[in-house]
Amino acid sequence: MSSLLVDDIGELVTNDLGGEDGPLGIRRDVALLVEDGRVAWIGPSRDAPAADRRLDARGAAVLPGFVDSHAHLVFAGDRAAEFAARMAGQPYTGGGIRTTVGATRAAGDDELRATVRRLRGEALRQGTTTMEIKSGYGLTVADEARSLRIAAEVSEETTFLGAHVVPAEYADRPDDYVGLVCGPMLAAAAPHARWIDVFCERGAFDVDHARAILACGQAVGLGLRVHANQLGPGPGVQLGVELGAASVDHCTHLTDADVDALASTRVDGGHTTVATLLPGAEFSTRSPYPDARRLLDAGVTVALATDCNPGSSYTSSMPFCVALAVREMRMTPAEAVWAATAGGARALRRDDIGRLGVGARADLMILDAPSHLHLAYRPGVPLIRQVLRNGVLQ
Ligand SMILES: [Zn+2]
Repeated sequence: MSSLLVDDIGELVTNDLGGEDGPLGIRRDVALLVEDGRVAWIGPSRDAPAADRRLDARGAAVLPGFVDSHAHLVFAGDRAAEFAARMAGQPYTGGGIRTTVGATRAAGDDELRATVRRLRGEALRQGTTTMEIKSGYGLTVADEARSLRIAAEVSEETTFLGAHVVPAEYADRPDDYVGLVCGPMLAAAAPHARWIDVFCERGAFDVDHARAILACGQAVGLGLRVHANQLGPGPGVQLGVELGAASVDHCTHLTDADVDALASTRVDGGHTTVATLLPGAEFSTRSPYPDARRLLDAGVTVALATDCNPGSSYTSSMPFCVALAVREMRMTPAEAVWAATAGGARALRRDDIGRLGVGARADLMILDAPSHLHLAYRPGVPLIRQVLRNGVLQ
């Protein structure tokens, strides 16, 4: 049994209820003992048990690692020119996804693998210790299966998104494509996936198709996630709530009934459907941000994630999303940090990550700052000094 004492922590964000200072459960001037990849003890340094090794936090803030519950990393090519055109005034429609599909199908496994590993490494250096990864740029049986195989090499949180968009060759017969997704594509993808997701939006999949696809996934044991209400109002959020999805993602255009439906999942005491907000997408498409304040005030559980993808949000940075959420979405710094850690864990229905209590996984980051406040207060600054994953310094 190997042990590591993280000592001289100025501010420890535990996300454990019952701590001081609201939802973050902050403790001050403590040490944290890691044994076999788990948090084994937290308390004043003078009371710390003996440990094999010691890591000095030098009075800095220590937080749970970020849980990025929404990312699309398996793709080839980039769409920088599309971004430039958008910034020059062209609207975002989601149609560019097909550009990436073409490039991804043409790429070799090693090229896709190199991109996934590069982006995963980039995120890790910015504090992300858990990252969900979706397929969705293959859209053939073989290409979706290989996307998930490659994703599963670096993450246990993999999501089958064959229903990202109807590929060009099925443009005139979307029913046939839904049949493919629910049949051979799901069969090939499911062994490598924990979740199934669908882009329920005008121009992608309508509510009947989305319902059919999610039901097929659920029938083979996959958990449910939905891309919903990003580009306009629609039925996606309420469909996700109705089917017991772990998360509905984007939530940019919500009616009062959508907000009530999300809030009711919290009240029911069963599994909560989390509203995962992806402000990088609004930033990169120059669109109005979702109203986080309205969701929080209604009692909805909110998560923050990057939506890292080459079209609408090519950032792997959770600190950037925290800063956006505070500045543009009226979240407090504490709410944003909670949403990017514990919120992400809820969105993945995990209770071993996103918090730093005894028994939790020792996934944490040491900041080059005395407080979690600095993540939003000092935007764009590389504040992540060290990252531990499973108790191992990365
Ligand atoms: Zn997405």
